[in-house]
Amino acid sequence: MSYDDDNIFAKILRGEAPAYIVEEDAMSLTFMDLMPQSEGHTLIIPKESAQDILHVSSEALGHVIRQTQRVAKAVDEAFHPDGVMVAQLNRAPAGQTVFHLHFHVIPRWSGEAMPFMARDMADPIVLERHAEKIRKYLKNID
Ligand code: AMP
Repeated sequence: MSYDDDNIFAKILRGEAPAYIVEEDAMSLTFMDLMPQSEGHTLIIPKESAQDILHVSSEALGHVIRQTQRVAKAVDEAFHPDGVMVAQLNRAPAGQTVFHLHFHVIPRWSGEAMPFMARDMADPIVLERHAEKIRKYLKNID
């Protein structure tokens, strides 16, 4: 399967679809997951057009992984979860639903169910509030 420019994350990168953006830099975009598995569920994507981890340049991957670590630290400080899950799925049988490489950062709390499939759409006001909360901590993380 080759990269399909019509995927929703490509549209977000082109500014053709809305997103609750946490941070943008030259090589990556960080934004809130629209159907979060828990409060603070954040996505990190490269700007490079790569459908999955098997098709991304090592330069872009290195950048996105470093950004994922920064986001994990910021989410940890912002939400004080018991655990922080970092997930990345490749191809539909592995659960991938959007075919532009992305890393999930998902705060987890003890005793909470851990679903990994579709949930409900979050309240836009809550998503913006969470984006702002994570942004505040990201400023202080190299
Ligand atoms: P995956 O199953 O790893 O491909 O995850 C795709 C993720 O993208 C899911 O967690 C969805 O909730 C999320 N998602 C889908 N559309 C959007 C969107 N427009 N904005 C933000 N997140 C989205």
